[in-house]
Order: sequence, then C-alpha cells, then structure tokens
Amino acid sequence: MSRLLSLAGVALLACSSHAAAAIPVTQIDRDGSIAVRVEVDYGLLDSCEAREIPHIIEHLVLAETRYGRTPADLIEALNKQGVRITAVTRQDFTEYTFEGTRQSAAIIQDAVLQTLGRASLPENSLAREVSAIHWETCSVGGPFPQAHPFEPWAYTYIPGSPAPCPSLGHTPDYSFPKVAESYQQHYGEAAFSLTVVAPAGSFDGAKLAEALEAARPGGVAKVPGAPAEVLPLPPVTQLEALKGEPAFFELLIAIPGRKTLPSIKAREAAESVRLAIQSKLRVQPAAYTAKSVIHQSNSAGWISVTAYTNLDEVGSLSEEMRETAQQAYRDSLNRPAMLDLVSNRELAERPTLHGNSWQYAIAKSMEIGVEFRFRDAKQQEGWPWVVTAGISVLIIWAILTRGYLLRRSGARVKTPFEQMGR
Ligand SMILES: [Zn+2]
Repeated sequence: MSRLLSLAGVALLACSSHAAAAIPVTQIDRDGSIAVRVEVDYGLLDSCEAREIPHIIEHLVLAETRYGRTPADLIEALNKQGVRITAVTRQDFTEYTFEGTRQSAAIIQDAVLQTLGRASLPENSLAREVSAIHWETCSVGGPFPQAHPFEPWAYTYIPGSPAPCPSLGHTPDYSFPKVAESYQQHYGEAAFSLTVVAPAGSFDGAKLAEALEAARPGGVAKVPGAPAEVLPLPPVTQLEALKGEPAFFELLIAIPGRKTLPSIKAREAAESVRLAIQSKLRVQPAAYTAKSVIHQSNSAGWISVTAYTNLDEVGSLSEEMRETAQQAYRDSLNRPAMLDLVSNRELAERPTLHGNSWQYAIAKSMEIGVEFRFRDAKQQEGWPWVVTAGISVLIIWAILTRGYLLRRSGARVKTPFEQMGR
C-alpha cells in the first residue's frame, strides 16, 4: 500500500496529500482539536539483535528537551500548555502523537521539532530510561523480554505477520554508541510519515514536514532480518485441571494489522465484542465487567477481552463466548465507522477508512484454520493459554488463575491488564 494515504469514501472530510516533500503528509481538515501524528517506520522486530533499542530511542527522543529532563517531565509540561503527547513502540513502527487546542499550533510544531527533529540523543538519560523500561516491561533484575506474546502467536496464526526475533546467542548491546547509531540510521525523512487532522488553516502539515526534513535528512528504509529460530507457542495441556477456580479469562480475537483494518474500526470492534461478552457474563452473573485491549502492528493484531469470572463451566462458557465474540466482531465490521464519535487524534492514527475495507479483512481471516489448545496456570513462563480457532476468527482463551496472579504480582489483580496493554 502506498505510504501516501487518501481518504476515499469519507465525504465529511477534506484531505490532501503532498507528494513533493520527502516525508509523506496526509492533511485532513476537520473541526475540533489539532492532532499531529508522526510514524517512524522502525519497530521492535526491526532490531532483533537488541530488540529494545527502538523502544529506548522512543524514550530518549522525549528526554532532555526544553520541556524537561525526562519523558514524564515533557508530558507534564506540554499538558499544562494544553497539549497531550503519546508515544508507542510496536513490532514494526514507532508512533508519536501530539494533540492540542486550535491555539496550540506553535507549541505542537515546536514540540515535534524538539523531539523528532533533534540532532542527537541525550547520553545522560540512557541509564535512567533503560531502568524505566525494565519497570515498564516487568523485567527488573533480568534481561528485557525477547518476545511479546503477541509475536509468536501472530506469526503462527495470521498470514503475512513478521517472524518473532530468534533466541539470542549473545548479550544484547544497549550501549549508548549502539543506540545512537540506530537513531541516526532509522530516524530520518526516509522513515517518517506525517498525519495532521485539524481545523482548516490551523496547522500546516507540509511546513512541519519541511522543517523535519531539514532537521533530520536521510535515514534508511528498514531491511527485516531473517529469523534463525522461531520461539514456540506454549505447549498444550488439559483444561479440566482449571475447572472450579475463579480466574481471569482472556479472549483473543485475531484481527488484521492497521494497514488493512484501520485502528478506529478495530477499536469499535473491540468495544462491541467487550459489551457482548460482558452482557453474557452478567446474566447469571458470572462477572461484573470485561475489559478490552487492542494490540495492532501494521501487519497483524489482536483484540484481547479479559474478565474475572468463575471457571466452573469453562467448557460450555468458552464455546458460548466464542460464538458471541465472533458475531459481535462480524456485526461491528459490517457497520460503517462511527466517525462522529472519533476524536481528531484517533482519526490521525490511521485515516484509511476506505468504504468497506474491513469486510475484506473478514474474508481474509476465513483462511485461518481450526485449532484448540490451552495451557494451565502451573506452568511458569508467560501466560497460560487456551486457544480456539473459529470459522472466521481465531480466539485464544488464556486462563489466569488466582494462584498465578498472586505469584506474579503479590495480589495486585491489575497486573495482567497492565501487561496486555503494552
Ligand atoms: Zn516505554
């Protein structure tokens, strides 16, 4: 798909692409806030020899600016001026979003250039941010995770997903020279794309792109490395062992990546599935609420729906939930996106709402086969899994027993939610 995005089929919005600039710019005129999104074509799976480097760069880009020492300082300082900033590193991209009022155009322009336009990274922030990322990835006192559970799963079940990073035979190099070299190589005009959703005349995306190109010329298109050995999915065990225990269950639905299914539509589908599941679980009631989290790379994704429930009837419950989730997912994708409820920041995430592109996504996911597997909580690494694949969607049930939670988090029941939000 072209990196120059268009917005066919969305009559309410005016959209223009500027082909002359090296950085592709999508500018959408829309009332409301100013939202600016910069995507860098560089993510965790593009750096398998030391896969946390893109994430470390994301943190360092936001450190030691005129807005403060740490990324948290920057977020707070900008927030006081009416600008919200988010940054996320995924498998195959890193994304920065800035959103503010119509009066905040100059601050947003400056904040983008202070961060993504910077000539070099601050070496004095490296140790602090590496430590922060260990807290973020629940790996304090050990190495960074070598895979997110999403990666082997997506590679196994979603056609076209990139391979997870192979196991390393060496200690990853997270020295400053290595991180700085990766920054110079991957953060440049060749890797950036820019999306602006803002009231007409309030923010000039082409002008920002020009300034960013002047500040960060060059950069290289990434070359994905071939994996030597793929990390396997957790082994299959017997579900019956978990019966009778109150537990968290997780329902995972395979969805296409953002290049095929816009994140806006994925969010809608996730909410529809969550509400449908919650409605089922409240009949008895077998749960109070359910929570949904989306993980989408450019090429693959999942919707995770989690609830704290009773597993007495897990067999029949899982079958019922699978059908409920499939139906809710299908129904949602067959409805037009509710753009009136979408903020400009959300629209900037992936503004490719071509007519019925998500219907194609359903047809594509039909190719996924049928499989059932699960893993109980007594196995130590990762999550216990229950996997079922339906006719049109692939669903995993992960059973997290109370004992598992206590062992991992000292009775902090929030932990699995937090982990899945990564
Ligand atoms: Zn982080």
